[in-house]
Amino acid sequence: MSELEDELAPPLIDRFGRAITYLRVSVTDRCDFRCTYCMAEDMTFVPRKELLALEEIDRLASAFIARGVRKVRLTGGEPLVRRNILWLIEALSRHLGDGLEELTLTTNGSQLYRFADALADLGIKRINVSLDTLDAAKFRVLTRWGDFDQVMRGIDAADRAGLKIKINTVALRDMNEDELEDLLRWAHGRGFDLTLIETMPLGEIDTDRTDQYLPLSLVHSRLSQHLTLTDIPHRSGGPARYMQVAETGGRLGLITPMTHNFCESCNRVRVTCTGTLYMCLGQDDAADLRAPLRASTSGAPLHAAIDEAMARKPKGHDFIIDRDARPAISRHMSATGG
Ligand code: SAM
Ligand code: SF4
Repeated sequence: MSELEDELAPPLIDRFGRAITYLRVSVTDRCDFRCTYCMAEDMTFVPRKELLALEEIDRLASAFIARGVRKVRLTGGEPLVRRNILWLIEALSRHLGDGLEELTLTTNGSQLYRFADALADLGIKRINVSLDTLDAAKFRVLTRWGDFDQVMRGIDAADRAGLKIKINTVALRDMNEDELEDLLRWAHGRGFDLTLIETMPLGEIDTDRTDQYLPLSLVHSRLSQHLTLTDIPHRSGGPARYMQVAETGGRLGLITPMTHNFCESCNRVRVTCTGTLYMCLGQDDAADLRAPLRASTSGAPLHAAIDEAMARKPKGHDFIIDRDARPAISRHMSATGG
């Protein structure tokens, strides 16, 4: 696609006046873990022939950067299990300081022990690492296939490489609810921010989501019994609300799609590894960008498809968690990348 055509395309503003400045790219739907709240153990993945090539992901993300996207987050599935992922990161890093302000990723940490130094060398400054427990046995139950010590080695390597780490923890009833304060003290003790996330009803899993759901309003009031939590205006360009924890000196984020809707300030869209654009994590409406991307080496069909999709970006999501209801959204978080 010619850079000229990209440059002529106007910034992305949706019909509610929200500027789209944040793109999340799920580079693979595959993963080396099977977290119980995210996937069924016998997940079926997209056939490899339907995947976008890394060069195509680069063209796609570059088109969004030309339209005003300032932050790109690579996610998955597990982004670091996609073969040659460093090639894509290196390719996208050419935009850093030239339109793109931040290139980052969300990982389960399993491959960080081998990639941390390379990520730092390629200009990545911050990463999110998902970690739901500090108990190795529980970690194995929760992730089914994960190795706790390997993740810890990865976190240490990332820290040594100078990457700023934010820990993301999904709050799960019975599973880690008694551990959340320990996780917070551990993360802050190591100089990492911690963000807690409510489970969202995405995709069929092997268990009932109502059994896993723990409202963060309850977690907040429990933490407040031992800790002084003060709301602060800090924003990370995402939906988290932040508070300062006086006792630890660290920052706690809460992502509460279920108990507190964050859609009015939504600045993001998501692309999957097959080139499907989701305008909202919590809605099924999507646009195929793979066909227009492949239709021409000129950017025109792609930009037209992006414009058409943007005009349909909805006002917000309709999540509910209900024992009798099917998942609000049929696709898994690993398809759209959270
Ligand atoms: N594999 C990487 C990881 O785990 O960080 C990136 C992809 S994962 C889908 C991104 C984030 O979504 C993780 O923090 C994970 O805990 C979270 N997640 C997955 N399924 C979820 C669900 N149903 N509700 C809320 N968060 C979920
Ligand atoms: Fe894999 Fe991340 Fe989903 Fe866990 S949450 S199964 S690590 S994609």
